[in-house]
Amino acid sequence: MFKKVLIANRGEIALRIHRACQEMGIQTVAVHSTADANAMAVRLADESVCIGPPQSRDSYLNIHAILSAATLTGADAIHPGYGFLSENAQFARMVEEHGFTFIGPKAEHIDLMGDKVSAKQTAAKLGLPVIPGSPGAVEDEVSGKKMAEEMGFPVLLKAASGGGGRGMKVVTKSEEFVEQYRTARSEAKANFGDDTVYMEKYLSTPRHIEVQIFGDKHGNAIHLGERDCSSQRRHQKVIEEAPSPALDDAARQKIGTLAADMVRNMGYVGAGTIEFLWEKGEFFFMEMNTRIQVEHPVTEMLTGIDLIAEQIRVAAGEPLRYQGDNIRFRGHAMEVRINAEDPETFIPSPGEIKMFHAAGGMGVRFDSAVYGGYKIPPYYDSMVGKLIVHGKDREECMARMKRAIRETVVDGVKTTLPLHLWILEQPEFISGDYNIHWLEKKLAEKAAAAAEKK
Ligand code: ADP
Repeated sequence: MFKKVLIANRGEIALRIHRACQEMGIQTVAVHSTADANAMAVRLADESVCIGPPQSRDSYLNIHAILSAATLTGADAIHPGYGFLSENAQFARMVEEHGFTFIGPKAEHIDLMGDKVSAKQTAAKLGLPVIPGSPGAVEDEVSGKKMAEEMGFPVLLKAASGGGGRGMKVVTKSEEFVEQYRTARSEAKANFGDDTVYMEKYLSTPRHIEVQIFGDKHGNAIHLGERDCSSQRRHQKVIEEAPSPALDDAARQKIGTLAADMVRNMGYVGAGTIEFLWEKGEFFFMEMNTRIQVEHPVTEMLTGIDLIAEQIRVAAGEPLRYQGDNIRFRGHAMEVRINAEDPETFIPSPGEIKMFHAAGGMGVRFDSAVYGGYKIPPYYDSMVGKLIVHGKDREECMARMKRAIRETVVDGVKTTLPLHLWILEQPEFISGDYNIHWLEKKLAEKAAAAAEKK
């Protein structure tokens, strides 16, 4: 087992990784920008190294500074968390070339899945149903338009190197195609440095259902069930839950097995997520994330398995400890992402947290790196924490989430907590009958009603 792990990330995930390491008797090194000198992970880690100024490209994306910190502190392995360098194949390669272990999959698999066109082709080859669309990249506007007309509108143009819900354009009719195609390409180039665009049928009522998978270096592959992330705003997840209220056991079994088989056939090592859209009883592969995800605690609460500890063990060459009968799914789990944003306008609200109190009690978990007196820096994303709860069934889980939200105090900045409370009170959410477009529609109605009152 590793003696020392360097954590190449910040915020709640850096703390999450530190916690797993501590429990495993592994020393930690926190790297941080000058803006994060007072971060919780930096305070708690055994060692810390400042790797640059606030801007991510000079610090958390600075490969040379991170590798130097690993050398300087004598770390054995590097955990990239999510975001930043976690899906950068070049980084994974360089980590290994410098004699450290990358706690994640092989660089070739990051490459393969990082390009969404090759990811889709690979999934199709391995027998997974994919969303109907262009067989590869859409090379030019003439052939693209023709293909869209044959497929039928609406269609969705997506950036091959896209991520974080960005780089997508819906085209509703033939006349709009050329303009949208050009915009999609230039936005893809500007945001991701790659103007490759592909096309999919735009599904009107799908759910986002993803499967947590795991592979080890001994050829074993498992799935740990699904998470339903259909509660979205701007293609970004707002609330995640498991099990999905939409699936029955047969559908659950089917998709889990398909996902685990794909991973086994690839020879994939480590944690990963295979994302699907689900509509009218059918699954369609969307993409694979080759890292731990923000919403991983939902699965941890449901199964009792520490996914970060398992990532570390698998990276160190140990076989998966969980297979077949010793994987048990209990009750229902849910996570809300707490962002420092205005809950109505969604404008970021950085600043100092004057007072902070985390909810507690049975079945409640609060994953956050903030504390009273903490200043949220304006340089990074606005997520300040995640509230995760578990209950014996969905009803208990929702009741518990509501009381936990009411208990939580984050004073001094605006947060999305009131938004979550509101979502949890909507009849469609309560019945579980919602899809990826539901929340956005509901929010638009709410805004219109508020405007009318004024
Ligand atoms: P990203 O990597 O940016 O998160 P994804 O491919 O995972 O991109 O898509 C993000 C979200 O966009 C999905 O969860 C879903 O809400 C929506 N989406 C993606 N593809 C389609 C599609 N073909 N039809 C309708 N919505 C889609």
